[in-house]
Amino acid sequence: MRTWQIVGWLTIVGLGSWLTVVAGQQRPVLSPEQEARLQIREIMDGLYVIPGFDGGQSGGNVAVRVTGDGVIIVDDKFPYSFDFITEQVRSVTDQPIKYVLNTHHHGDHAGSNPDFMQSAEVIAHKNARANIIRNNLAGAPRVIFADETAVFLGDAEVQMHHFGRGHTNGDAVVYFPDLRAVHTGDLFVFGERLDGSTLSPFWDFGNGGSVLEWPATLTGLLALDFDTVIPGHGPVLSKDDIRVFRSKLETVIDRVRAEVAAGATRDDIASRVETADLDWPLAPVRLQNVFDEVSEGR
Ligand SMILES: [Zn+2]
Repeated sequence: MRTWQIVGWLTIVGLGSWLTVVAGQQRPVLSPEQEARLQIREIMDGLYVIPGFDGGQSGGNVAVRVTGDGVIIVDDKFPYSFDFITEQVRSVTDQPIKYVLNTHHHGDHAGSNPDFMQSAEVIAHKNARANIIRNNLAGAPRVIFADETAVFLGDAEVQMHHFGRGHTNGDAVVYFPDLRAVHTGDLFVFGERLDGSTLSPFWDFGNGGSVLEWPATLTGLLALDFDTVIPGHGPVLSKDDIRVFRSKLETVIDRVRAEVAAGATRDDIASRVETADLDWPLAPVRLQNVFDEVSEGR
């Protein structure tokens, strides 16, 4: 695989755009059609989503739980997204945003922490906080948890669970038990970016991610009692969609294991493992990451 192809792939799958976003602090100019897709919408009584379809233009999905005693949001998009999120929430309630729950540390999910921390409490997994600090990002939360925690506000209970490694080593699943709904963070992503390209999972090895442990992490998530799923990016879906995603992950792992057993090398693993049928454009480096993790475990 030539270098330009790898660079091209990284751009296509989003890592390139993510780095661009970290460098820029302006909200991108979008078409009216794109802006319409990003407006807050009600999922059910008391729960809204401010949609996010990618790590480059629109950021992660923001869940908005409105109670009689304030608002809890899940994730806060990019460093420039504070005003946009605040205005969107203001369009559905006069209640103040009191808590921001981070699903993980990435800048398209926790980027506005510094602004929200002026008036709200931000909560994240302890490894997400460590990742924010190690990566020199702003907005390290003052409150962390290890296995689970919960916020009780008004008539709502909102739980945070850590089920193990996957996208990073600090992923939190946010659970709304009374609404039978979850926000998965990037442990589950689905669909197309605003630019029309297809999302695929990203195991962030530099921040403790693990493709081998990811399916078991999803099994932990699936043990919760819920119907409605807000992915890290993409449309609101249902529990079965997470099962399909887990099975595709297992397929990728199985295929890499089989090729490693058959003598594949780090250099040729990407050309030997087919993923087109999964509708997941996986960069060669991603498959090399899987190769590394499979090889280490042997
Ligand atoms: Zn992420």
